[in-house]
Amino acid sequence: MYSSLTRAVRAVHLGNMFSIIKLPRVFTVHQVPKAFHEDSIISGYRHPRSSATDCVLSLFQLTNETLNVWTHFLPTWYFLWKLMTVLLTENVWYEEYTWPLLVYLFSCCVYPLASSCAHTFSTMSTRARHICYFFDYGALSLYSLGSAISYSAYVIPDAWVNSTFHTCYIPIAVFNSILSTSLACYSRLGFSFLHYTHNIDDRFSERESLNWSKVFRVLAFTYPYLFDNIPLFYRLVLCVGEGCTDNEANSFHVQHTLLAFLTGFLFATHLPERLAPGRFDYIGHSHQLFHVCGVIGTHFQMKAIETDMVLRRSQLLISAPDITISNTVGAALVCVCISLGIIYYFSLPLLHRSTPHKDMKRNALNE
Ligand SMILES: [Zn+2]
Repeated sequence: MYSSLTRAVRAVHLGNMFSIIKLPRVFTVHQVPKAFHEDSIISGYRHPRSSATDCVLSLFQLTNETLNVWTHFLPTWYFLWKLMTVLLTENVWYEEYTWPLLVYLFSCCVYPLASSCAHTFSTMSTRARHICYFFDYGALSLYSLGSAISYSAYVIPDAWVNSTFHTCYIPIAVFNSILSTSLACYSRLGFSFLHYTHNIDDRFSERESLNWSKVFRVLAFTYPYLFDNIPLFYRLVLCVGEGCTDNEANSFHVQHTLLAFLTGFLFATHLPERLAPGRFDYIGHSHQLFHVCGVIGTHFQMKAIETDMVLRRSQLLISAPDITISNTVGAALVCVCISLGIIYYFSLPLLHRSTPHKDMKRNALNE
């Protein structure tokens, strides 16, 4: 009798505990403002004015963003482990040859971390959403430059080592990454900082012309990717005879390239949810697949770079241009600083907007 009473009291306590940790409600596409709409995703939307706590709590319930966050948050730790392994096992301070790998691995940690933060906190408000994704785009541009820096040091085919293209490759990659951040930010808001007095919510380019904004964004990331991979495409497809650097790394490079194209295809086409809107709202929509393919692609790219780095070491140390601070960490720092400046300018009109009225939180669903 006593034990069954204790069990009942415990059950009530447990029930109370779960009612205190109340998971946020989810909404349909018709209940949230247009700025939050995702192509062919009908349900599972979080509140468009969620608190930071609600955003974090939502990671433990199934919404249409949950897997977007986890598919980048968990790989961040894997890439961080790879970076720490190199830092702890190699003599990185005195071994210039490892610097391009370190910059690349650092960029591999930054992009999934920025993305998972963006997906987590993007439903705090319309302006938070834009700013979160500006950082996401900046991190992707840094990753693109990190790839170029490591390609210049380890992947470029023998025939192109010390060529004019090789000399110009990193400066152009830095310029491309800055252009990429600018174009991706532009794809969300246009040049909003030129129109301080206008209401951003009413004029941002995504709402005005969804297709153009998508085209700009796809272009912002495919153009630097294609440029960065010119030496690799030459090595794998066009090069014949001597100087083509045909080694064991090539199969990893091919796997990475195929996954990169699949990643781009998923981002551009919104398949499979376009074929069956509402079917893939929570699991299996294109953005989740885009994250997964991107991360697996990065894994193969990492293996390819490490393989080339080890196999070509003795030869590259003699024939390749010197690896310096300026063509590794320096180039990445220039990219980071200018990208942060671009993000600041695009965020400025959002930050200077008058603070929304308290009632807006209540009315947000009717915007
Ligand atoms: Zn994403």
